[in-house]
Amino acid sequence: SKDKASPRIHILREAVFKKIAAGEVIDRPASVVRELLDNSIDAGATDIIVEIEDGGLKKIVVTDNGSGIHPDDLEICYLPHTTSKIETESDLMAIRTLGFRGEALSSISTVSITKIYSTYQDNTEGKYIILEDGKIKEKGPVGLPRGTRIEIERIFDNYPARKRFLKTPATEAAMCKKVFLEKALSFPDISFKLIKNGNMEVFLPQSDMTERIATAYPTIFTKSRIRTLEEKSGNISIKAVLLSPSFPQRDRRNIYIYINGRNIQEYSLVQAISYGYREVLPGGQYPAAVLFAEIPSGEVDFNIHPAKKEAKIRILPELHSLVSKTIHKELRNWLMPTSNARSS
Ligand code: ADP
Ligand code: MG
Repeated sequence: SKDKASPRIHILREAVFKKIAAGEVIDRPASVVRELLDNSIDAGATDIIVEIEDGGLKKIVVTDNGSGIHPDDLEICYLPHTTSKIETESDLMAIRTLGFRGEALSSISTVSITKIYSTYQDNTEGKYIILEDGKIKEKGPVGLPRGTRIEIERIFDNYPARKRFLKTPATEAAMCKKVFLEKALSFPDISFKLIKNGNMEVFLPQSDMTERIATAYPTIFTKSRIRTLEEKSGNISIKAVLLSPSFPQRDRRNIYIYINGRNIQEYSLVQAISYGYREVLPGGQYPAAVLFAEIPSGEVDFNIHPAKKEAKIRILPELHSLVSKTIHKELRNWLMPTSNARSS
């Protein structure tokens, strides 16, 4: 009714707006795994270990042998908008790292107890900080080889609205594993371990791309069932691992898309892959495939989704047609090699 005054505007308290911002980046343990893996990969690590307890609800630990964090930087790395990866607006046009927003550690430490241990480059001693509610509670020296170890405990204990939406530890663990595998797929040079409740769940040793895919998804991309293709056109180059259409899938869940090393959800490219299989798979059956596309960094903007799961690709039509055409041709050669056989 008319006499009921509408509430006046006020600025949200920091504790509230920080949680709102954090919630966009971190919505479950799997988002922590995703962000910490990104950081370890960006740090040039060759060995990364992810440990989760109770689906990450109890604990998430990521240890790497990367560059480490400078002891002075350690005291600011968890603040909002702090990053070593970009500096100017023009850097946004040429993102080469997985991270660039300077939001992950800030968001994670807002919704958990976060412990960061790091030994920078050739330093003989490391340093640690313990963060609670996004503030330093404790700090000191630590003996640790070069690299970084980040421990996350009590996730969302201070954010009940979010905690209520978490699933069972088993389901959260499955989501952590999914993120882990998707991330590891495009970095075969890095060794990844996933330890679940103290037991080795997945070990992906350093290998090549085909081997990595076969090791990460041993029930789908079995070596004898796959074929690899590479193609280049203009400033686009693609690599793909294709599952033989003799092993059709019931849905599109095993079609993975990577642009410049980053796993994204891009339906039109999933569709391009399906289209490449159109002659060999009847309706209702779907392929399994992994696509890695490399395009100039100025042609893609990853800055449209807080979790960077989506991207704007300027040359999407060209990429789409290259993908479907190349797959179509490759499948013909694979399945109907008679014409080649005759001529050789
Ligand atoms: P972003 O990755 O977008 O830069 P983050 O909040 O994820 O932002 O991390 C902030 C900064 O902390 C990074 O830019 C990086 O300098 C440092 N950092 C975080 N994790 C690591 C790590 N595992 N190894 C080395 N440096 C790290
Ligand atoms: Mg990051």
